[in-house]
Amino acid sequence: MNPAKEPQKELPKEPAKEPAKEPPRPRTCTDCVGGFMPARRYLNACVQILFIAGSDALDGRRRHPFFDFLGQVIAFPDGPADQDLVDLVDGLSDEGGTPAGAEGTVRTRIARKIIRSAGMDPDRWGMCPTCGGNVVLGGK
Ligand SMILES: [Zn+2]
Repeated sequence: MNPAKEPQKELPKEPAKEPAKEPPRPRTCTDCVGGFMPARRYLNACVQILFIAGSDALDGRRRHPFFDFLGQVIAFPDGPADQDLVDLVDGLSDEGGTPAGAEGTVRTRIARKIIRSAGMDPDRWGMCPTCGGNVVLGGK
């Protein structure tokens, strides 16, 4: 008998197994750094400079060495700032009734107040549109 003409018996197929469904794994957003876009990161850096200068003035310390380095490109006074800068930093860090720490660090509150004073929403301005500032995408 010619085996080519013999009808092939089909073996019963096992039902296709569906891969076990795993919940989507959270992944880190690659469109931002820490949920911030470049503009917000620049603002955060500027606020940090202001905060350091204000802290130096508050503590009466000598000017932070950081300003020696920055002083090569930006004209800073030779000594620490005075009480006026302490008052400014203090005023900027007060969000009017917001309990301390409720919105993060003092620097975060300062940045938020600056953004708000410019008429923009600090929850949106400079935040990553991909992850909404949450850094993590997907998952639960
Ligand atoms: Zn992002």
